[in-house]
Amino acid sequence: MSRVYNFSAGPAMLPEAVLQQAQDEMLDWQGSSGMCVMEMSHRGKEFVSIAEQAEADLRELLNIPTNYKVLFLQGGASTQFAMVPLNLLRGSNQADYLNTGLWSEKAVAEAKKYCQVNVVADGKPSKYTTVPPSTTWKRNSYAAFFHYTPNETINGLEMHSLPEVEIPLVADMSSTILSRPIDVSKFALIYAGAQKNIGPAGLVITIIREDLTDIIMPGTPTMLSYKTHIENGSMYNTPPTYAWYIAGLVFKWLKSLGGLTEMGNRNQRKAEMLYAAIDNSGGFYKNPVDLTYRSWMNVPFALKDDALNDTFLKEAKAAGLVALGGHRSVGGMRASIYNAMPEEGVTALVNFMGDFAQRKG
Ligand SMILES: *Cc1c(COP(=O)(O)O)cnc(C)c1O
Repeated sequence: MSRVYNFSAGPAMLPEAVLQQAQDEMLDWQGSSGMCVMEMSHRGKEFVSIAEQAEADLRELLNIPTNYKVLFLQGGASTQFAMVPLNLLRGSNQADYLNTGLWSEKAVAEAKKYCQVNVVADGKPSKYTTVPPSTTWKRNSYAAFFHYTPNETINGLEMHSLPEVEIPLVADMSSTILSRPIDVSKFALIYAGAQKNIGPAGLVITIIREDLTDIIMPGTPTMLSYKTHIENGSMYNTPPTYAWYIAGLVFKWLKSLGGLTEMGNRNQRKAEMLYAAIDNSGGFYKNPVDLTYRSWMNVPFALKDDALNDTFLKEAKAAGLVALGGHRSVGGMRASIYNAMPEEGVTALVNFMGDFAQRKG
């Protein structure tokens, strides 16, 4: 079977060039080690060079300032929901959270175990189709940090500008990191599960301003302290070595394409093409999200008649367009178009959607 265009929200498509290289290096990394990266000691010089190169390339791509640490951790973004309050409350017991979707909700629920969570604004009454204007946010002046989710993967809602706050800003960038340039210096902490836009599941990357890591909540498990991982170069225990290596190949691939400015241009073109197909379908397809907050990465859309959903999915699959089913909480369809989705994949989807609407409309 030839490769399909995989619109899954995560684990998501990886660049074919990366998979090819991993295949070439599977039995004998760089033709000089006689082993697969999976078989290497994480403390040996080969793997240490892989790890260091990956970090250096990520730093270059995101232009990460030197006073930030980059950690390659495990436990997914979901573990960060606990690590953030455990490490960033720093003696306080209050934090601000912006609720923009189902992932924000989960972050809030976890943080409530450790502190008083002040939800500054709640998108739920709008069914997460918009973000309440920042002038209406109810901030808590005692909050130790402000947490938000720039891209809500399930709801397809993305904030295209930064919240302006004067306290440490924390972002769950799982489904938007590396999709365009960002100014890391505006953040106290950024985290992102790898399986959307970085590499294989099993790895989560945290970028943290170093001066914020000194006061940890008493009783914090060793593995949940950023300090532990900073002091040990993310090798306090055995790191997810193969996922780290593949992430490094993805970073090289991004650099070879021209870095994040180029990726941003591509991603914007892809998203505009898909939204245009939805908006110009005469109501056959609909996306519910406020135009200002439409995601470049995850595009949910409903068909005018839900009874057509199964046929749509079946015919799309036959056309090599897979994993288009929407999240169970939203229904309909969702196309995730991360960095590794080529423009041809989106063109193929748009052509299929046009043809389908013509036949069934
Ligand atoms: C996928 C996702 C998560 C959860 O990631 P895990 O690695 O499965 O824990 C959290 N936040 C956002 C925004 C996501 O897209």
